[in-house]
Amino acid sequence: MITIKDLHKDFGSNHVLTGIDLTINEGEVVVIIGPSGSGKSTLLRCLNLLEEPTSGSVEFEGQELTSKKTDINQLRQKMGMVFQNFNLFPHKTVLENLTLSPTKVKKEALDVTEKNSRHLLAKVGLADKESAYPNQLSGGQKQRVAIARALAMAPDVMLFDEPTSALDPEMVGEVLQVMKDLAKDGMTMVIVTHEMGFAKEVADRVIFMADGIIQEEGHPNAIFDAPQNPRTQDFLSKVL
Ligand code: ADP
Ligand code: MG
Repeated sequence: MITIKDLHKDFGSNHVLTGIDLTINEGEVVVIIGPSGSGKSTLLRCLNLLEEPTSGSVEFEGQELTSKKTDINQLRQKMGMVFQNFNLFPHKTVLENLTLSPTKVKKEALDVTEKNSRHLLAKVGLADKESAYPNQLSGGQKQRVAIARALAMAPDVMLFDEPTSALDPEMVGEVLQVMKDLAKDGMTMVIVTHEMGFAKEVADRVIFMADGIIQEEGHPNAIFDAPQNPRTQDFLSKVL
């Protein structure tokens, strides 16, 4: 579904990504771990051109993202993104947060979108919150709305950038549960997280990034129980 080849990203003299090669298959759950500042967010953001790669290629469903022929807005519709800080529209109700993009961007009929959105809200356990405003919700509820909002566009892949890092500890579980359900439904997911227990349980593959490259990747059992790379060993010894 996604093929990344020799991806580089510089911010001025800061060489953040220095040659990333990565393939994400349909239905796969890939978890990216690594120290702060190692370029995990930058990599995710290059996947939907929130950041423009300095060099290298990113193909999504057979289309090169940076090619002039590519309609990036159309491709972006197929990639749902969930951020650490929710980024909900504060002056819109929960239901309106979900219906806005499908009606505006995809020109879906409002009644169709509302029906689908209510179904998604029920799926994330928030059927009773459709008329609430974001500031009336807990952090965990806001993040579940953000996930449902991304799903309302019927994406082919979901990108998560530390979706539970801004949450109080007691709310982390409810968001991870929604993500586990999505994984079970076969959604293709790329997830940056520090939740190692979740990674171990849900990931098909774990990627360890440091110093601008993928240092090690493999099945979670291999990465967590028998890491080969000294950088991975050092990182895991600090976080596990
Ligand atoms: P991570 O998500 O792994 O913590 P980031 O991708 O956020 O790492 O950041 C990697 C490096 O890139 C950091 O040194 C950060 O300061 C730098 N960086 C990220 N985004 C920008 C930006 N928009 N402009 C300049 N530097 C950036
Ligand atoms: Mg980050």
